[in-house]
Amino acid sequence: MKTINLKNIVRENILNLTPYSSARDEFKGTADVFLDANENPYGTLNRYPDPHQREIKQKLAKIKNVEPSQVFIGNGSDEIIDLAYRIFCKPGVDKALTFSPTYGMYDVSAGINNVELIKQPLINDYQINLNQLQPYLDDPKVKIIFVCSPNNPTGNSFNIGDVEYILDNFDGIVIIDEAYIDFSEQASFVSKINEYENLIVSQTFSKAWGLAGVRVGAAYMNEKLMDLYKRVKPPYNVSVLNQEAVLESLNAYEQVQANIKVILEERENLREKLAALKIVNKIYPTDANFLLVNVDNADKTYDYLIEEKVIIRNRNKVVNNCIRITVGTPEENERLIEALKKIS
Ligand SMILES: *Cc1c(COP(=O)(O)O)cnc(C)c1O
Repeated sequence: MKTINLKNIVRENILNLTPYSSARDEFKGTADVFLDANENPYGTLNRYPDPHQREIKQKLAKIKNVEPSQVFIGNGSDEIIDLAYRIFCKPGVDKALTFSPTYGMYDVSAGINNVELIKQPLINDYQINLNQLQPYLDDPKVKIIFVCSPNNPTGNSFNIGDVEYILDNFDGIVIIDEAYIDFSEQASFVSKINEYENLIVSQTFSKAWGLAGVRVGAAYMNEKLMDLYKRVKPPYNVSVLNQEAVLESLNAYEQVQANIKVILEERENLREKLAALKIVNKIYPTDANFLLVNVDNADKTYDYLIEEKVIIRNRNKVVNNCIRITVGTPEENERLIEALKKIS
């Protein structure tokens, strides 16, 4: 059991914060007449949403095998990342760390919050360089380490032993971003939230659940960390419409799983077809719903595909001559392959 001292890693103003108490916090039972929140009595979306998203948490907790009190629901994972900076990092003083290349929002959110983000380069097929990490693990100014596994844009998962080493040897918060975990064979770290007091596991409804338009993310953590997240989040951070959309897909969990299976089959199909193209030099192993592909000239390939009205992600600036291709429907993937055949 890894324990931490919250006093050392939480901003003092957050520890001392009296959170906003909404009308729906103070009254939880059933009633007939609600004249407590200055809502309009007319309309269909006239009522504020459940600030605690109780129904979603109950259903999700069952699927993930945790307590509902260990589930946080955010306005996308992006809100979960931003709240972490605001809870743990004093602007202009504290730091965070991640492993590059990785998801761009850790850096953008650090910039918005005036927090320095240290970017340690990944090595040996994009694994964590544990040998160089110790000084950062020992630095009391480093408050958060972001571990994106499976990693975007490289697609691989990090060695579980390396991630556990960080959890064991770092007295700050470790956020494991598992946006792509449902496409991976690796086990989720959600099952470890009771073992590590410093662990937050972030997931999203945007990828495997097919709800990117809805903007809902979930984070799993122990109740002490949850108390901090609850204090800092806007009271009504997830709208009625968004909660309904998530509940619908939670009720159709089997369909979600079936779609994941199709995407994974199609990913392997796409890999084979790409491998046969002359301009393709290397396709990296992936645990996600995308492929990182090294081509002869990433910029040219990207521009050419735009002319063909096929949009991929050019990652040339992050990984030399690499493009990132999301797995689409069989028809979409075929369109991409046909276009690439023309350049080859
Ligand atoms: C797509 C993605 C997310 C999703 O963010 P949302 O705000 O939930 O849509 C989170 N992390 C990574 C690494 C991603 O690639």
